[in-house]
Amino acid sequence: MNQLEIDALEILDRITDGFFSVDTNWNFTYINSEAARLLFRNREDLLGKNVWFEFPEAVNLPFYVQYHKAVREQVPVTFSSFFPPLNTWFDVRAYPSPNGLSVYFLDVTVEKKAASKKQQHYKSLFEQNPDAVFSFDLEGNYLSVNSAMERLLGYTEKEFLQLTYLPLVEEAELQRTRNHYEKAAKGYTQHYETKALHKDGRVVHVSVTNIPIIVDNEVVGVYGIAKDITDQKSTELQLIKSEKLSAVGQLSASIAHEIRNPLTALKGFIQIMRSSAPSKEIGYFEIMADEIARIEQITGELLMVAKPQVQQFHYENLTEIFQDVTTLLGSQALMNNVDIKVMSEDIPLVYCVAHQIKQVFINLIKNAIESMPTGGVIHVRLGSSHTGAVFIQVHDQGCGIPEGLLENIGIPFYTTKQKGTGLGMMTSFKIIESHTGTMEISSKEGEGTIVRISLPVHFVD
Ligand code: ADP
Ligand code: MG
Repeated sequence: MNQLEIDALEILDRITDGFFSVDTNWNFTYINSEAARLLFRNREDLLGKNVWFEFPEAVNLPFYVQYHKAVREQVPVTFSSFFPPLNTWFDVRAYPSPNGLSVYFLDVTVEKKAASKKQQHYKSLFEQNPDAVFSFDLEGNYLSVNSAMERLLGYTEKEFLQLTYLPLVEEAELQRTRNHYEKAAKGYTQHYETKALHKDGRVVHVSVTNIPIIVDNEVVGVYGIAKDITDQKSTELQLIKSEKLSAVGQLSASIAHEIRNPLTALKGFIQIMRSSAPSKEIGYFEIMADEIARIEQITGELLMVAKPQVQQFHYENLTEIFQDVTTLLGSQALMNNVDIKVMSEDIPLVYCVAHQIKQVFINLIKNAIESMPTGGVIHVRLGSSHTGAVFIQVHDQGCGIPEGLLENIGIPFYTTKQKGTGLGMMTSFKIIESHTGTMEISSKEGEGTIVRISLPVHFVD
């Protein structure tokens, strides 16, 4: 060894990286002291020995593949690999030469563990998030979804990864949603509400945030965070409805009251005039009487809503109340070719105002009859639900209600009938609400409608 070579070796020994070299037969030709320390070996023991004999575990690890690649292709390689026998992560750079291979390596276990911890931190934010979190590429294909997202829309992660967001947005909302998405893909964070479609076909109202994923100053995709606001939406709607209800209630009370008295006078005089009218005019009087009856019906319904009556709550038998209703409406049903079939379980007495509940039943059965102009069957069920509440369900085979119009039912004066008042359902909602019960409508256009009322047995204030 000449002086130059000795100097060079001393330098190599002093560098802080581990360093060793092997010849073309993979035998160690040099090992610096850091390398010996990192590998927990004596350098005298290793010199002249074959790398793969001394470290057989490395054969199945990236070390083998990478070193061979460097030698075969005569290119430098860099890689990181875990080395299980020493429980250590190494960052490695290897440089080929005609005499063999020079390898520099560093112990990066601490950094790797910290990075992996950090990754786990971020992963928790994704995985454990109660909100649905997901990411897309720039075309809107799903790249990842968390489990909250699987629950929100009912698809599995695997199914999501085959999809874009487009088929999962309700059609009417699609263009708007797409605009927001495209803005996010251009780098602008978006907040908006839209309607998503659950796998089972249900519409889910969601509030969405779309955030651009920026890597090296370039947007490479879009993150999404979605919250289910379906309940919130329906409460909002209910609130709007009930505000309208009480405003209408106050107004109608005074109007209805004012109309009733003159109406009574008109009715009386028409009756008197009719008895002495020439026979060709009788028809006019009949029309007048009919129309007055209709005005009376409307004012009656209005007063029903508005009257601040002192209500008599008692424990009542709903089955009996319902029987009264079928008797009352029996002839109307018969005339319309409608059969009312009642299935009643043994149900407890319910704390309620009997004549109000009766009014609700009348409204429902009337609507059911009117929905079947060519006749049909109304199935009525009375029973107890598993929560202990009593339910009554009225199921008709009528025209049904188109989905988009369902939310109008119960809005004062909303009617689709030529002679309708649009007050029946509002009154019913209001009565059921005052009994702390619930009334739900489900309907399929052309197939029929189910109205289901649930009433607590005891009054809960
Ligand atoms: P009205 O019966 O005077 O129209 P309602 O408040 O009772 O007023 O009902 C409002 C609207 O709700 C009706 O016009 C109808 O469009 C719809 N509706 C209510 N019940 C039914 C039903 N069983 N089948 C189909 N549509 C119904
Ligand atoms: Mg009605």
